[in-house]
Amino acid sequence: MDKRDIQEIVRNEVIKSVIDSQGFIIAGNWKMNKTKHEVISFLDEIKDHDFGSKNTIIIAPPSPYLYLFEDKLRYSQVLYGVQNLFPKETGAFTGEVSYVVAKDFGAKYAILGHSERRTLFSECDLLISKKVRICIQNQIQPILCIGENLEQRKSGDYKRYLTNQIKEGLIRISGSEIKEVIIAYEPIWAIGTGETATPLQVEETHMFIRSYLVKEYGTEIGKEIPLLYGGSVKTSNIKELALAQSVSGFLIGGASLEASAIIEMNSILSNK
Ligand code: PEP
Repeated sequence: MDKRDIQEIVRNEVIKSVIDSQGFIIAGNWKMNKTKHEVISFLDEIKDHDFGSKNTIIIAPPSPYLYLFEDKLRYSQVLYGVQNLFPKETGAFTGEVSYVVAKDFGAKYAILGHSERRTLFSECDLLISKKVRICIQNQIQPILCIGENLEQRKSGDYKRYLTNQIKEGLIRISGSEIKEVIIAYEPIWAIGTGETATPLQVEETHMFIRSYLVKEYGTEIGKEIPLLYGGSVKTSNIKELALAQSVSGFLIGGASLEASAIIEMNSILSNK
């Protein structure tokens, strides 16, 4: 056996022990994709699948399909959420969906502050913070997205930018409420581009976020807040990325559209 084989064996053992040691969140963001027919066949494929008890599977479909999720996933392990919410209970807010509606259909999570919402729909941190708060107050778990663009990454200023997004996005959240928040680090340059951050970049950035959370909210709370990575995650790279320290799971766009990919990613992160 040569040195390369031994290195490979050691590497595989390390990957195995990291993956064995924790459960992961696998969250799919469908964005504005799929027809009713496609949603039904996806749900039929996953609803009775045995995902094991280790990982948490979440799908966020376009809101009009929530009724299908409620119907098909009633007895399933798969959980679901919304891609956005308006921070009011009811009223004259044309085109928006409230937490009341989301809850009515059994949504347990809300993706908030996604970079597409920030850039294409001009969402600011203040609005996002209101959404985070209303979710927590109404038992919907917010997945707060943060992430720098390529320019900010290249300039080396991205840590200040990320700190700001967390600070402002969580501005109205008390120390006890913060436990309900999930943070997704999604570098904009890696979303939908096919270009993934390296495990080292993810690790380094997650460690930075983690230390900020510990400093702000104390060790006990700060170390428990789940940190997801998002940006061109797929079946072929999820194992490598799971090695990055502080990764509690993944927010996945394109690759979450296929039921078989969700099943495969769960298997990879279960060492099955
Ligand atoms: C996303 O939309 O949050 C995302 C990470 O997309 P993709 O996986 O397609 O890059």
